[in-house]
Amino acid sequence: MKLYNTLTRSKDEFVPMSGNEVGIYSCGPTVYNYAHLGNLRTYVFMDILRRVLKYNGFKLRHVMNITDVGHLVSDADEGEDKMLKGAREQKKTPWEIAEYYTRVFMEDTDALNIEKPEIICKATDHIPEMIAFVEELVKKGYGYETSDGIYFDISKFPGYGKLSGISLEDQMAGARVEVNEEKRHPADFALWKKAPPEHIMQWESPWGMGYPGWHIECSAMSMKYLGDTFDIHTGGVDHIPVHHENEIAQSEALLGRPAVRFWLHGEFMMVDNGKMSKSLNNTYTVKDLRDRGYNPLAFRFMCLNAHYRNKLNFTWDGMAASQTAYNRFMEGALTHRDGSEPVDQALCDAFLKDFEEAINDDLNIPRALGVAWNVVRHPQKSNDLYKLLVKMDSVFGLGVENASVETEPAQLDREIEELIAQRQKARQEKNWKLADEIRDKIRSMGIELMDTPDGVKWKKI
Ligand code: AMP
Ligand code: ZN
Repeated sequence: MKLYNTLTRSKDEFVPMSGNEVGIYSCGPTVYNYAHLGNLRTYVFMDILRRVLKYNGFKLRHVMNITDVGHLVSDADEGEDKMLKGAREQKKTPWEIAEYYTRVFMEDTDALNIEKPEIICKATDHIPEMIAFVEELVKKGYGYETSDGIYFDISKFPGYGKLSGISLEDQMAGARVEVNEEKRHPADFALWKKAPPEHIMQWESPWGMGYPGWHIECSAMSMKYLGDTFDIHTGGVDHIPVHHENEIAQSEALLGRPAVRFWLHGEFMMVDNGKMSKSLNNTYTVKDLRDRGYNPLAFRFMCLNAHYRNKLNFTWDGMAASQTAYNRFMEGALTHRDGSEPVDQALCDAFLKDFEEAINDDLNIPRALGVAWNVVRHPQKSNDLYKLLVKMDSVFGLGVENASVETEPAQLDREIEELIAQRQKARQEKNWKLADEIRDKIRSMGIELMDTPDGVKWKKI
């Protein structure tokens, strides 16, 4: 199978390093808030990679971290720790925040049929490993101490920038006005931060009380669980220029050779063709999908229809279309289940060959889905074709075997929830005329709205 390697900038033939087992590390969530649909797109991509590798007969040793300390508001080591910010805003301890959002993340990924990696590890459980890693880097001359922490000296690492293709000069030119004058180079990054007494999360270290930088956790935990060198590292494209560049610098400085063979990155999900951001109020979650009456698996279906290296634009209209297409796909698959018309084995073989070529061509799932649609739409209704779809679904993860045809009321719920959301938006924008028009439209459908402290409720008149 071929996979696009960000490092070589080409589709390379993938063969595991040793035998049949594939070692994978995926950058996991920072658990200070709900995962938004963009985050989840990246985990759907990670899941597809898992499933395609397993389809090819490989055994997996897949590690995903949970970032529960050290990821600052800016990826470039500035500002507050996201965990502490979340805790302050929600009036909880960072540990409570981490526990709650980790649990919701697991529920969300379950709802999207995302398989759990074999090993899930928390940053706060690996502080000693990170300290040992930083000590070693300091000993080798790659780390230096300032008044507020230990920094990695990127000028000592000639390969810095090889993943993103950004040269040191460009890094320098792109760097904002440096706030930390003790750093030797603006792109030097924190391995360890010294903590003032009021900082809630802190641990003892050779440099006094403090907490780890964000990047070191991934280097330390991948090495602990996968060994010095491993097969595949995944993450979203935003990680390429800083987080993964820094991971490479840390790990290669320690080892004296590369740690990762294949770097795979999932492209971003946009909303209404723009950035997804809290300030724009457009970071939707799995709960938003459900509140509007959508099946989370229809969102998975939406993700599968775009190649992981292409941007995907999320709109609620697109979501409605995905739900409809998902329903049709499932209904079509079900028509084959009880069918007994004979189909040629050669036909099944040809479908399977096209499917396998697609998934093994850098996870071309949209093409593989095209093949599956041809099976779904095949005029002869045959259980053999159903079995073929079930086999393909071991990669898609759409739940073909559990499919049931959605009922009409669900469709009605969805339409009303969508109209309610449009009315709320109109009200937020103080467009009272439009809000009233939408209320009238809903009323004409025989539905009455009630504005309650828990939000808008509705009932049939
Ligand atoms: P975080 O929880 O912020 O550490 O991010 C978790 C994962 O989501 C990372 O792999 C990010 O690269 C990825 N990510 C963040 N925003 C988006 C987005 N809009 N679309 C796709 N992936 C994203
Ligand atoms: Zn990471």
